[in-house]
Amino acid sequence: MALKDYAKEIERCSACSYCKWIPFDHVKSWRFAKNCPSIDYFNFNNYSARGRYLTSRSILREEIEITQEVVDIAHTCLTCGACDVACKISRYNLEPLEMVRELKAELVKQNRFPEAHGQILQNLTHEANVFGKDRHRRGDWAEGLNIKDLTRETSGIVFHAGCSYSFDESLTPTVRTAVEIMNASGVDYGIMGAAEMCCGARSHAMGQDEAFTKLAKANIKLWKRAGVKTIVTACADGYHAFKHLYPSLGGDFEVIHIVEFIDRLIREQRLTFTKEIPLQVTYHDPCHLGRMGEPYEPWEGEEKKFKNQIVVHEPRKPRKNGIHGIYDEPRHILESIPGINLVEMERIREFSYCCGAGGGAPEAYPEYSSWVARERMEEAKATGSQALVTACPWCRTSFTSASRDEDSMQIVDILDLVRKAL
Ligand code: SF4
Ligand code: SF4
Repeated sequence: MALKDYAKEIERCSACSYCKWIPFDHVKSWRFAKNCPSIDYFNFNNYSARGRYLTSRSILREEIEITQEVVDIAHTCLTCGACDVACKISRYNLEPLEMVRELKAELVKQNRFPEAHGQILQNLTHEANVFGKDRHRRGDWAEGLNIKDLTRETSGIVFHAGCSYSFDESLTPTVRTAVEIMNASGVDYGIMGAAEMCCGARSHAMGQDEAFTKLAKANIKLWKRAGVKTIVTACADGYHAFKHLYPSLGGDFEVIHIVEFIDRLIREQRLTFTKEIPLQVTYHDPCHLGRMGEPYEPWEGEEKKFKNQIVVHEPRKPRKNGIHGIYDEPRHILESIPGINLVEMERIREFSYCCGAGGGAPEAYPEYSSWVARERMEEAKATGSQALVTACPWCRTSFTSASRDEDSMQIVDILDLVRKAL
């Protein structure tokens, strides 16, 4: 699809503004009722899904010039998907998230994107990772763990570490825990080491389609050559890319997030926790593991009007409203750890609020990204918890970077709690 394919849909946006809020029957307080971080921060309609529909219409009609403001309006969308879930509850036949992403892609085609995204693109092109770190050191995190190298051997399962776990040394113990659990389970798997490439999710969210397709196809080729059928990852971005974006490029693999893997071991009584961790925690649902982690469902068909009024799709279009994301598994892991008391925030599961790390915002709009992370941390603090737990390295880094000295709340990856409790 391209932005022009949304021309009719743009006219159907009813300006109801439901996309700015969590569904009203889920609102628990005014303080945490909003769902779209960008309108929450900029407080101007153009920074909502509704506003981006209007901006897109003006671009398609060639009524406006592409100014820096237009670039900012598009690229401050974190592609968190909260508007999409809300819109689909109010309406059923609009795709605001896909439209906003196509808006970004359209601007990229016109060479209009934040300068910081240009640097990320360079990093991806030269080093196949978002940070521009030496690609040959990508597998260093696994040193000494004796994991199969799938560039030389074969296995049906690959563990994909992703850019963040591969290069952020503060996260090395966390990612090593993931594979230590896999080793202990006796499963036959391997890693791609230095040959692994960025999943491309960030470039996709930035509208950089060419970079995304190149990375995705390269990963798919490597995996197919190694006989891979299943991908395990501990990164929510990677999970979303492999599960939702790769199938349309020929990457039809089973995709498992490490929390699903661990949860399965707990349920089969193959993993038990022996140590108590006396801690009240709250869990942050990463957007790309939750509502954006739904499986890909291909659709090809026609848009028609019923009785010349109601838009219908034939065959019926799959409705992606976030309910099939990964929500129960991390909660079950936390509840299985002796001493942990899980207290929920107000915006959870498919109505979760973003951590601020999406869409290349931390690099291009650091103040905004940090404000979003703090908003979520305020909600976490309101539960009275001592720790904010998540299951994605990007969320953890976003919260950690936004933390202040006076914050008494710990920011924890769920894998670190698992390690401590074993
Ligand atoms: S909820 Fe959907 S229909 Fe309503 S204003 Fe937002 S994008 Fe438009
Ligand atoms: S994807 Fe997130 S940031 Fe973008 S418009 Fe929707 S709710 Fe706002």
